[in-house]
Amino acid sequence: MAKIGFDIGGTNIAAGLISDEGTLLKKGSLPFPQDKDFEKVLSTCEQLVKALEEGNEPVESVGVAVPGSLDATASIVLNAFNLGFCNTPLKDILAERLGKKVFLINDADAAVLAEHRIGSLKGCTDAFMITLGTGLGGGLILNDKLYRGGRGHGSEPGHLILYNGGRRCTCGNDGCAECYCSATRLVTDGKSYGWTTAKAVIDAAKAGDDFATAIFNKYVDDISSYLASVINLLDPERIAIGGGVSAAGDFLMTPIRENTWRKVFFNERTDIVIATAGNDAGIYGAAFIAE
Ligand SMILES: [Zn+2]
Repeated sequence: MAKIGFDIGGTNIAAGLISDEGTLLKKGSLPFPQDKDFEKVLSTCEQLVKALEEGNEPVESVGVAVPGSLDATASIVLNAFNLGFCNTPLKDILAERLGKKVFLINDADAAVLAEHRIGSLKGCTDAFMITLGTGLGGGLILNDKLYRGGRGHGSEPGHLILYNGGRRCTCGNDGCAECYCSATRLVTDGKSYGWTTAKAVIDAAKAGDDFATAIFNKYVDDISSYLASVINLLDPERIAIGGGVSAAGDFLMTPIRENTWRKVFFNERTDIVIATAGNDAGIYGAAFIAE
């Protein structure tokens, strides 16, 4: 039976009807209520379900991807700052409201799950994914399953410490990988030269600008050190890189591969590829956890 997957973000609530075979049959999106009013969030979800079910069999269960941390039973959203959720028992409330079974997943985990089922990590038993966006998200597939951690927290790949005593991270620690591998790092380093986006820095480096090239090379070197450590720890079959920065394509991927392979302990070369599940990965991943 088809499932509905929700991807709740601070700008939009997107939802899709996904078939048993993993095909997106129908999709809808409505703005996330700007005043973060919880009642409006629920009614928006309800509207989307109605729209998706119109002309189709009603679904029995829905999955919901949220940008925040969940409790160990995946019933309560502990914190989703962009949504204004704090200790919100979303699973039960939404289940009652929709009259359906509800399953929650962190949005980064949903993206990893989607990548594993329908994207570039399909067929891998052990794999790792990072998303180079405003932050550094991602997750792990271990033994053919999304790794949920010993206590239900899964992994936080953005907060592995890459530089002891390094740049201050939004999490309060210093030197996290997120400070060096995210798109924000390129923006931070490029600002004093007048580049205000990661794409602007990368485009300037492509055009041969010396300062942009220096920033870009350091960025690649940092990502590569990070990935080499991940490979040394996990020996994954493949690593997928997603997020806005990955749009740089081979210009980014070729030096990352070469630099990473040079640093890895093992002689074999881990496959490092661009993520392919796309913008609907959250919807897919959410639907895939719905039972
Ligand atoms: Zn951090």
